[in-house]
Amino acid sequence: MEKDAGEPEPSRQRNGLVCALYGEFTDVLNDRDRYSVSLSDSALTIQRISSSPGRTKVVFNMTDCVGCRAYRGPDGADVGAYFTAYFYPFKRRWMSAGVARQRVEQCFRVALVQDPLVNLQEAERWARSIRDGSVRQAPRRDGGVYTALRRPCRVLILVNPHSGRGQALQLFTGHVQGMLTEAAVPYTLVITEHQNHAREVVKKADLSQWDALVIMSGDGLLFEVINGLMEREDWREAIQTPLGILPGGSGNALAASVHHYSQSPPAWNEELLLSCGFILCKGLVGSLDLVSIHLASRRRLFSFLSLAWGFVADVDIESEKYRHVGAIRFLMGTLVRLASLKIYQGRLAYLPVGEVAEPPKGGVVAARPSSTPRHPSLGSSLPCQLIPSNSPNQNSRHKQSSTNSNHNIITKSSSNAFHTKRPESQSEPVDALLPGLDQPVPESWTVVKEEDFVLVLAIYQSHLAEDLWTAPGAMADDGMIHLLYVTAGISRPALLRLFLAMEKGAHFACGCPHLVYEKVKALRLEPISPQGVITVDGETVEYGPVQAQIHPGLARLICG
Ligand code: ADP
Ligand code: MG
Repeated sequence: MEKDAGEPEPSRQRNGLVCALYGEFTDVLNDRDRYSVSLSDSALTIQRISSSPGRTKVVFNMTDCVGCRAYRGPDGADVGAYFTAYFYPFKRRWMSAGVARQRVEQCFRVALVQDPLVNLQEAERWARSIRDGSVRQAPRRDGGVYTALRRPCRVLILVNPHSGRGQALQLFTGHVQGMLTEAAVPYTLVITEHQNHAREVVKKADLSQWDALVIMSGDGLLFEVINGLMEREDWREAIQTPLGILPGGSGNALAASVHHYSQSPPAWNEELLLSCGFILCKGLVGSLDLVSIHLASRRRLFSFLSLAWGFVADVDIESEKYRHVGAIRFLMGTLVRLASLKIYQGRLAYLPVGEVAEPPKGGVVAARPSSTPRHPSLGSSLPCQLIPSNSPNQNSRHKQSSTNSNHNIITKSSSNAFHTKRPESQSEPVDALLPGLDQPVPESWTVVKEEDFVLVLAIYQSHLAEDLWTAPGAMADDGMIHLLYVTAGISRPALLRLFLAMEKGAHFACGCPHLVYEKVKALRLEPISPQGVITVDGETVEYGPVQAQIHPGLARLICG
């Protein structure tokens, strides 16, 4: 598309819109096809100019744009320059109902004058304006704003080549790589070689080199990364590194949740990957709650997704053998486990949201004294120390921009990029709500009467899997644990109904008396059944007593 001499006129009033840029262009292939193009804060509008009736007009929303680049044509004799803008608008699916993000590129030719350099400068001016328009900060539901990753940002992408169906690397190359190039996001790829490789990498990394850490895998690899960051002496600063997720595993709960938080219609598989790639390119960062989990061995873990015991944990671990079928492994596992439904004995107690935590030195403030009989182990009062909150430093670190090449691939963790000078030690985040695991829970906690369960699930994201919308109201930074449990006595069909309804987040509407839902800040679970499985973020941890508390907004997540 060729541009008329004398154009553009900046800030020209057209159709009631104040345009940031306006120009007229001809088609790249046919210069008799001419288009008027205008760029406003919110949209790129392209209208065909021709003598024939039926002028077609296309409007691209700038929120759907990931980038724009300007360049000279391949033909050295061509005085024209070009710019191409990349959009991912929602469009109707070809084969099924509904809409999903699909790639559209718009290319224009600029030939203002006979001087190729002037034309290129003009193309660059358009490309810059379109890029600027695509990275504006976005409002949040709570009235705040997401912050934007700095540009150009430098991203470390960790890929587990064995996650899911073993295709994470191919999925990355096929669906994400091109989008990152379009968005001018330089990245370094680390292909993990063994379990805990990612954990070691982020533990040693010089984080001043990265604006974001991105995981292309299932939830298990992000669990490694978060715990690697929390094991650093500079954990408080390290855990503020924005984290991104690209679904490459069979359990892609956080990816499904991030997609859901963006208020997009449901998507699966490659469509979910494209959506998460798009969210990464837009680079809006919000807060992410983490949950600190204490195990009987005194080990402490940090979790971003879930703590599960009983049915859900069993399905997660037993369905590992169906990993090759992808996300549908959970449905298969659910059906198999339903056939041999088990009851698990244990004690459960929690601190409800809204309940006032007890003051230090033994004073008890119970805003809602529980009338529930208290269990001898969980029930007696315990002095609970209140320690000043560990609200993380929200200021992102100043980082140097230095990247020229688009990407690197590193498979060894020995690269210099991963070595850091250790700053002075900082104390760990303190779990002010939790007594020792060997101590009774405080008076302000609610102790569950029942001791026979089918499942206990603490979840802090909306989705437990791509098609399990388990905590419909949950947000990444709502500051609470969504505790669900199902008591013994539920029939197999009723339990199956709950899981089928969960696809649409409709399980609470089933009216099942065995399903209980509470919003809590802390919880303790003490299994009595001698054997069983407990998972944290889908990973098996030691079986035994476990307790957890929320740390609101401890980490940061690319979402929006
Ligand atoms: P999936 O959703 O398919 O289970 P995950 O990301 O959860 O994918 O990874 C599964 C497990 O593989 C996790 O425990 C993770 O720590 C581990 N892991 C990561 N990288 C590798 C690797 N290169 N080889 C083997 N296991 C790995
Ligand atoms: Mg996993």
